[in-house]
Amino acid sequence: MAHSRGLKVHRSQGETFRKRLVELGAFDRDRKIGSDEVHLYLPILDLSPEAEEDLRSLGDFDLVEAEFEEAERRETVEKLLGSRASFEVVGDVAILDDLDGEAAAAIMAVHRNVRTVISSMTAVEGEYRTRRFRHVAGVEKTTTLHKEHGLRYRIDLEKAYFTPRLGTERLRVAKLIKPDDVVVDMFAGVGPFALLIAKRGAKVVAVDKNPEAVRLLKENARLNRIDGIEILEGDAADLAERYENFADHVIMNLPHTARDFLKVAMRIAKDGGIVHYYAIAPEEDLYGRDMAFVEEGASALGAMIRILRCGVVRSYAPHQYNIAIDFEVHKP
Ligand code: SAM
Repeated sequence: MAHSRGLKVHRSQGETFRKRLVELGAFDRDRKIGSDEVHLYLPILDLSPEAEEDLRSLGDFDLVEAEFEEAERRETVEKLLGSRASFEVVGDVAILDDLDGEAAAAIMAVHRNVRTVISSMTAVEGEYRTRRFRHVAGVEKTTTLHKEHGLRYRIDLEKAYFTPRLGTERLRVAKLIKPDDVVVDMFAGVGPFALLIAKRGAKVVAVDKNPEAVRLLKENARLNRIDGIEILEGDAADLAERYENFADHVIMNLPHTARDFLKVAMRIAKDGGIVHYYAIAPEEDLYGRDMAFVEEGASALGAMIRILRCGVVRSYAPHQYNIAIDFEVHKP
């Protein structure tokens, strides 16, 4: 037993906090998670004030001193391989950054649920934000079934965008939404924001320009028995006329070009509605440039905005971050 710091969280929130701690690099892998009947005790490394604030947005927890057992040393891909391999797992498919047969074999040996290993041949690209892959090991396919926050998603990694790395952000936004709210998800993909929110009772309009994403989104709505969602194939730029002053929340998850749609999003928002805006920003100016875009858009419409929150969603590339800005729109 070793005495160290931990996060005391309700059992129902354990996985959410564990995942976020791992993303923040603050989860102590050398110690075992502890528990009592109601709570889990998650062992942590040093927690910066920013990381602590980030965790507070997920829900309640206490910082505690506790006795944690040493974790047994699990077999890991890194240990088998003798070096690090960069990969992510979506359903039963592992996506490797590099075309590397040895790494693929190590992943399949350690992650028993992985049936396919593919390697990305391109960056996420084009209007539909998709990638091309090459098969490396296991069953040859790019389709899978992925579970996130209790919902199941059919995914075709080559035909429509999906990353599990936004899971925590999706839950953060979903928790801000009340059951009788109206929400427009302008860039919905296969539905991981829209369906999670509709599941919580809100009325959702979900839009995507990619016909394959829309096909999967409709299938995912059926798969999870979710109604209360209107699914549209089309250009989000055309939504303002039909949905003017319509939404309590507008989600703009198209980080590279969301700025081009800011005025449309502000028109869709009701007076007092909230826009969740995403961007890719450089380390040296995380929020300034995009706050200026938001201000510009608002003043072109004669509206006022109030910034509610700025935060980092994840690191995107060296010195580049995927950021989120939540702001309230006040109409003239
Ligand atoms: N929100 C989803 C998620 O979390 O997985 C998907 C996000 S993905 C970064 C952006 C999506 O916007 C893609 O599915 C793409 O096809 C769609 N898209 C791009 N331009 C669009 C436009 N002008 N109107 C509607 N959808 C668009």
